[in-house]
Amino acid sequence: MDLSYGEAYEQFRAEVRAFVQEHTGRAPEGLGVMGGRSSPEQLAWQKLLMERGYAARTIPAAFGGFGAAPDILETLILGEEFARAGVSSGVSGPGVDMLVPTLLTHGSEEQKRRFVPSTIRGELVWCQGYSEPGSGSDLASLQTSGVDDGDQLVINGQKIWTSAAQAADMMFALVRTEPEASRHAGISYVLIPMHSEGVEVRPLRTMTGDEEFNQVFFSDVRVPKTHVVGQRGSGWEIANTTLKHERLVAGNPRDLEASLESLTRLMESEMRNGVRGIENVVFRDRLLRLQARVLTLKYHSLRLLTCELHNEPEGVAGLVVKLQACELMYQMAALALDVLGELGILYHGSNHERDAGYWQSEYMTWIGFIIAGGSAQIQKNIISERGLGMPREPKPTSAGA
Ligand SMILES: Cc1cc2nc3c(=O)[nH]c(=O)nc-3n(C[C@H](O)[C@H](O)[C@H](O)COP(=O)(O)OP(=O)(O)OC[C@H]3O[C@@H](n4cnc5c(N)ncnc54)[C@H](O)[C@@H]3O)c2cc1C
Repeated sequence: MDLSYGEAYEQFRAEVRAFVQEHTGRAPEGLGVMGGRSSPEQLAWQKLLMERGYAARTIPAAFGGFGAAPDILETLILGEEFARAGVSSGVSGPGVDMLVPTLLTHGSEEQKRRFVPSTIRGELVWCQGYSEPGSGSDLASLQTSGVDDGDQLVINGQKIWTSAAQAADMMFALVRTEPEASRHAGISYVLIPMHSEGVEVRPLRTMTGDEEFNQVFFSDVRVPKTHVVGQRGSGWEIANTTLKHERLVAGNPRDLEASLESLTRLMESEMRNGVRGIENVVFRDRLLRLQARVLTLKYHSLRLLTCELHNEPEGVAGLVVKLQACELMYQMAALALDVLGELGILYHGSNHERDAGYWQSEYMTWIGFIIAGGSAQIQKNIISERGLGMPREPKPTSAGA
């Protein structure tokens, strides 16, 4: 089996690798997938990557991107080479990773010109306003309302678990604009300036001690109707485009392999009671099981890549990647913490922390990603019902009747 991508692509890989090597250890740390505001160094790095065509590569030049034709193998090589060297591949977060592809598919010309360029440069920061108290997995039950008033929508309601809302300039939100329509039909996808009068952000402190999530309250917030993406009432379809891109954020096989390599290094160096982690049979058994699953997911991803190259539908196979990748990242971090023993429970800058608390942070991050963007249970329901043809889960109302 020849898994090389061919001569032209290997030439491209060599160029990217040379660039990445030149900047290894000098590039600023990338932003996490939760988003946030970029430092001047990060913005300068993003600018350089965009000039080289290593970030915003396939975004049309008219909207500030590099304008290269979409080429899945080039995108893959870029991901592989930056991840291999541990060098930031540029600004990430809900704006760049989720909103921009959604606007390119469904946005008006004006929305694309106004919002895409500053978002891909990392200057305009976005948050995602989907979840509400009582409307998470059952998102279509959301209650935040948008009432028609001339050229504007007047928005009232509450969002919750909004990552990075405290840093965001804008929110892409789901708002019920047609209360009389069926649940899925009455929702609109609206771009809300976070500094509008009537928007209040209240941070939520999690058990890590950090305030990454927020509650966001809307009291008579006025938004121009030109900020509705697509048709009014068609927000559900548009939200699903965004969710598809959210699920792609997790699951780069190279990230999984890099994490496995770091875990193996930790197990080779870390001692407990005079025994290296790798020599402990229980830990080694867990490591090998994880290695087998990482490899399985890598080949599953290559199969999906083949589908994409042949323009064949991938079905629910793509959902398997998000489900498995998040659980694998979490389980690798869990093994690392067990290997570290009491050092694994240190947090926030203790002198004895290993790798600056990397594994503690990974553990908390991936347990969250198992839930975010559609929980593992919901992913399993979809895979079993739509992929394996199993009976549909009874609705709570009919089950209780
Ligand atoms: C790290 C992180 C970041 C997030 N960032 C954002 C953000 O920026 N913006 C945003 O809008 N939201 C965000 N969320 C919220 C996230 O989308 C929701 O947490 C998620 O959709 C689940 O909704 P819920 O929390 O209301 O749980 P619920 O829907 O109440 O579910 C509770 C539990 O019941 C299970 N469950 C529910 N229904 C079923 C079913 N039918 N069958 C089987 N099991 C079921 C779920 O899997 C879960 O374990 C974030 C969440 C996390 C963890």
